[in-house]
Amino acid sequence: MIDLRSDTVTRPGRAMLERMLAAPVGDDVYGDDPTVNELQNYAARLSGKEAALFLPTGTQANLVALLSHCERGEEYIVGQLAHNYLYEAGGAAVLGSIQPQPIEADPDGTLPLDKVAMKIKPDDIHFARTRLLSLENTHNGKVLPRDYLKQAWEFTRERNLALHVDGARIFNAVVDYGCTLEEVTRYCDTFTICLSKGLGAPVGSLLLGNRDYIKRATRWRKMTGGGMRQAGILAAAGLYALEHNVARLKEDHDNAAWLAGALREAGADVRRQDTNMLFVRVPQERVAELGEYMKAHDVLISAAPVTRLVTHLDINRDQLGEVVRLWQAFFSR
Ligand SMILES: *Cc1c(COP(=O)(O)O)cnc(C)c1O
Repeated sequence: MIDLRSDTVTRPGRAMLERMLAAPVGDDVYGDDPTVNELQNYAARLSGKEAALFLPTGTQANLVALLSHCERGEEYIVGQLAHNYLYEAGGAAVLGSIQPQPIEADPDGTLPLDKVAMKIKPDDIHFARTRLLSLENTHNGKVLPRDYLKQAWEFTRERNLALHVDGARIFNAVVDYGCTLEEVTRYCDTFTICLSKGLGAPVGSLLLGNRDYIKRATRWRKMTGGGMRQAGILAAAGLYALEHNVARLKEDHDNAAWLAGALREAGADVRRQDTNMLFVRVPQERVAELGEYMKAHDVLISAAPVTRLVTHLDINRDQLGEVVRLWQAFFSR
């Protein structure tokens, strides 16, 4: 199967599995798992943050992040299409009584700071207390402009807000900027990383911030059911991913650019390509048929009027050549 639905579909390879098998473990709820501790320390060092926390999923990492920033009756400003507003079942509101204040992002994925400023509530009994600005990098594949990171940081310092970055795919941004993680994450208070997307681990995310914050987050992780026991088996996969699968994200970006070019040449209406994602227009009346045709030829896509195709470490150029051939064959029928 050639699976282009998401970069979450990767399977652990032999070397990663061997690292998992060999991992020393302990009970992480007691703080006793040496591999979890190694992963957390490694990620903290890499990002210049004081501490890190290993969690089962990116959704829980974002939820715990919001719960650790905001109390009941407080609010976070966030993009309309941000994962931690739109795609997490309203967790912050449902479980934290935290009010989201969504605003429209600009086409480059940034939240315009003048619009953010207009949404910050004055200190008045009518309003929720605005506590946090939450950004996403990358956002739908888009890398936030690098100078915006510093502007958002300085803005939040002036306005007395905390700044969280949902960095599920932050390493795709880091590889695109061609800098270190620390040069990106110095411009936020807290951020998350998904180990289970392009980095290729089967499970796991990290939340990073200062020591006091991560201490609060550890309590929220326990309360939300994310305190795991011999989790070192999973953390080992995360360590392997951070050590071996970061620089190679460039291949995924190059493959996505190649696929965009080849599909355009084959007559497809490729709307855009950013990092490891491309978005292709498909006539409404052919959407279902395209999905079935591809599946019948061992290619999995999320067929839609705008179909998102995602490259990752289990996809190579030959397979993409096959996808282009199938695409062309389907649309010339
Ligand atoms: C996938 C994703 C998450 C959530 O990760 P899960 O591990 O699937 O819960 C959060 N934010 C963004 C931007 C994502 O793409």
